[in-house]
Amino acid sequence: MKKLLLFCIGIACSGVINAQDIYIQSGKLIDTKNGKVLNEKTIIVSGNTIKSIENGFVAPATEADSLIDLRTMTVLPGLTDMHVHLEGQSNPTEYLEEFTSNEPDVAFRSVGFAKSTLLAGFTTVRDLGGSGVNIALRNAINKKEISGPRIFTAGKSLASTGGHADPTNGRSRDLMGDPGPKEGVVNNVDDARKAVRQRYKNGADLIKITATGGVLSVAKSSSNPQFTLEEIKAITETAKDYGFHVAAHAHGDDGMQRAVKGGVLTIEHGTLMSEETMEVMKQYKAYLVPTITAGKEVTENAKIKNYYPAIVVPKALEIGPKIQNTFSKAYKKGVMIAFGTDAGVYPHGENAKEFSYMVEAGMPAMEAIQSATITPAKILNVENSSGQLAPGFHADIIAVQEDPTQNIKTLENVRFVMKDGKTYKNL
Ligand SMILES: [Zn+2]
Repeated sequence: MKKLLLFCIGIACSGVINAQDIYIQSGKLIDTKNGKVLNEKTIIVSGNTIKSIENGFVAPATEADSLIDLRTMTVLPGLTDMHVHLEGQSNPTEYLEEFTSNEPDVAFRSVGFAKSTLLAGFTTVRDLGGSGVNIALRNAINKKEISGPRIFTAGKSLASTGGHADPTNGRSRDLMGDPGPKEGVVNNVDDARKAVRQRYKNGADLIKITATGGVLSVAKSSSNPQFTLEEIKAITETAKDYGFHVAAHAHGDDGMQRAVKGGVLTIEHGTLMSEETMEVMKQYKAYLVPTITAGKEVTENAKIKNYYPAIVVPKALEIGPKIQNTFSKAYKKGVMIAFGTDAGVYPHGENAKEFSYMVEAGMPAMEAIQSATITPAKILNVENSSGQLAPGFHADIIAVQEDPTQNIKTLENVRFVMKDGKTYKNL
């Protein structure tokens, strides 16, 4: 802080904040707003925000300032994964763990998942459903008690009885009970409103619904519609009162189209999306969050004996292999895309694998990067503070060895991670 130091005489600097700036010399820098790769820039970070970006390699102005040399690397804004589940990670005993784990067990485990996500270069995530421990996880990260990405969380997903996110699916009848709006299960318009308000009370940032059947629930259908249009509308309208957007899990086409017409902003997976629904998506300005990685992972896991319950296996083999192709068609038809992977269905920290699947399916690398930076910022209503390297934005900065627009796989090996001006990784 050169100017502030002018007012210091000797060591008598009372009243002056002892701030120091960090100069990040960047070989290449990705301008996500304009879709350009720039050469030789210096990012000056002050506190937790970017103060300025200078041309060329600028040396620190004072001795108090520090230098980070990323002159051989490509620097870009921290990435956002719009679909993660930080409370868990797939393994063959996962279904049993629901009966043996207490909330503190879930919480302790999620600390590690949050950290590996951050160290993989994902400085922001949208958590689309867990028990509600994900809310406490967000709070602990915000209070800097633990290391992890910025979290926007749905808390517990909303479902109808027996639906994909009904927490007692597949249990014996005396363990099923009759969960209601408080537990995230709704069966009419009043329930729907109450469930949204309960999420607000619990501290969620957004709402997630399971608009159709799903793969990993212990239930028969992977794709049937599971809400009425009226219920969906009650959810999205109530959500709006609380400043929430609504994300909808959907594999089947009918339930998906219903969700879009009912006002949800993002469709998760979108597996069996028809061309007609693609047009409806465009008309309603809804985004597709593809989760190709999860599709590939469940397909592989389903081939391992006893990895999933028997009722899950045919669903995984039917749905999993289709996701990448649907993404390809939807992208080419002009449906807006936001990057999301369903991390937790596969190991946390491998989120960036999704990029090469997107590129393989026909999306240019720069657009894939934008779908994980500026697009999520828009959806999450943080477009003036996140998703770009620009003055006034969060100092959420990552670096990779190669130019990802030339080799997208380099994003799977993030070498430098800064979040909020703090360096978490510098290899
Ligand atoms: Zn999910």
